[in-house]
Amino acid sequence: MPRHDDHDDHDDDFDDDPSLDEDFPLGDGTADTTATVTCPYCAESVDIALDPGSGSAQSYVQDCEVCCNPWQLFVEYDAEGAAHVSVIALEQ
Ligand SMILES: [Zn+2]
Repeated sequence: MPRHDDHDDHDDDFDDDPSLDEDFPLGDGTADTTATVTCPYCAESVDIALDPGSGSAQSYVQDCEVCCNPWQLFVEYDAEGAAHVSVIALEQ
């Protein structure tokens, strides 16, 4: 049975489900799996792959694919599965 068809009745609790905060959509295909960041070294916009299954708050090191300098990446997911990514130059 389809969850949402073209019936007219508004399905308000579809959008405002308070359980969404507890039911974090990690790993079920609704969380962001890519992000665009700006390299702190070469200022290029670079698309990167994310791994929602690694948790709602992540930090790791990845090299810029344009200039090969190392980034320190911070990834946080909000309750809707949207990724918030920040990148800084990795101190060496
Ligand atoms: Zn770069």
